Amino acid sequence: MAEKNALKIAVVGGGINGLCCAWQLALNGHQVTLFEKDELMGKTSTASTKLLHGGLRYLENFEFRLVKEALHERQWWLNNVPGLTRRLPILYPLYNHTRSRWKIKLGLMLYDFLAGNKGIGKHRWLTRKQVKRCSPKLLQRGLKGAYLFIDGQMDDRALGLWVAEQCEKESVKFRTNTQVTAIDASGVLSVKTSTATDSKLADSKLEFDRIINVAGPWSAQLLEDSNVESRQTLDLVRGSHLIVPPISKFGHLLEVPDEKRVAFVLPFKNRTLLGTTEVRQKISDPIKCSREEQNYLLSLYNYYFEPNIQPDDIEASFSGLRPLLGGSEDAGKASREYRIVRQNRLISIFGGKWTTARALARSLLKHL
Ligand SMILES: Cc1cc2nc3c(=O)[nH]c(=O)nc-3n(C[C@H](O)[C@H](O)[C@H](O)COP(=O)(O)OP(=O)(O)OC[C@H]3O[C@@H](n4cnc5c(N)ncnc54)[C@H](O)[C@@H]3O)c2cc1C
Repeated sequence: MAEKNALKIAVVGGGINGLCCAWQLALNGHQVTLFEKDELMGKTSTASTKLLHGGLRYLENFEFRLVKEALHERQWWLNNVPGLTRRLPILYPLYNHTRSRWKIKLGLMLYDFLAGNKGIGKHRWLTRKQVKRCSPKLLQRGLKGAYLFIDGQMDDRALGLWVAEQCEKESVKFRTNTQVTAIDASGVLSVKTSTATDSKLADSKLEFDRIINVAGPWSAQLLEDSNVESRQTLDLVRGSHLIVPPISKFGHLLEVPDEKRVAFVLPFKNRTLLGTTEVRQKISDPIKCSREEQNYLLSLYNYYFEPNIQPDDIEASFSGLRPLLGGSEDAGKASREYRIVRQNRLISIFGGKWTTARALARSLLKHL
């Protein structure tokens, strides 16, 4: 039954952020309808690196608040949905070309500290011999040893659908395959639907107490299409992954030679997940792995592992578009924070990590 102060709320976007917002709003007694233009969990949220993590490398950009929040959220997912998540030991091997040992040590100490006493395990140093036992195919030449640290891993699609189930239990209404064509600050939302008499798509207008625009990489575009002014811009940065044959039970965080950035080589569902890239693009460009990205990822893998693999060894690839808060020259340094902007009855959400989706939803409650 609807509560006294219940609001009628529309959530636009059925990715992890939209689902977590719908869930938290419904838990707080609101009547929620979620609109998704395709299927739930079909876009960015299912194309991630599958890590529930604080993001060790964001410490270099001094994003302490975000890392701390994400580490606490990591713990929550691992504790509460153990069937779809797990602890993953990750090796960070050190060579002459990598960041210095003291710098990595400092970062990992901070990472453990921010995770708090209830962290999921502290980092430790492994000798060359120990590293070889964990990952026999890893480059031995120049290897000084490795840090071993623990992060979380998930099946992103399945975990998102688990959140959708929680929404259903709280009576959230789902309208999938329904594109929102316009939103405005007075709470009016337009959707395209097919009428009973005519299979052609027709526009209909619906009114809500609040509209939550949480359409991920499409959220800024939806405002533009709706002629709603917004000062927040998004940098859209594609990230691609390859699936290749299994190599180790341990994950690897690897520094890309001659670059500042890092990439992951992780065990996932008995295969290896290799990613990711950072390519700026427009929202209208196709979101798929280019030949250059494929070559980039293959050469990174072949730099670090033997025997080498060829394009024929690639079993699958997938790509997603990071919705990063705009304004940074370097995609690697762009903030992974989220921002919530309210314009009367319309609330737009920009940015955000998979891991922090619940925290983002809790912040949203304060903006209602
Ligand atoms: C390559 C890559 C790797 C990543 N790895 C990680 C990781 O390991 N860990 C982590 O924590 N984070 C990771 N992230 C970040 C994380 O995946 C994203 O920040 C998060 O999934 C964004 O979720 P979202 O719900 O905002 O967007 P989306 O999942 O894109 O959902 C938005 C939804 O809105 C719908 N939509 C759009 N327009 C409309 C409309 N007009 N009407 C109705 N529906 C609409 C779309 O169809 C879509 O389903 C990664 C991101 C990328 C790209």
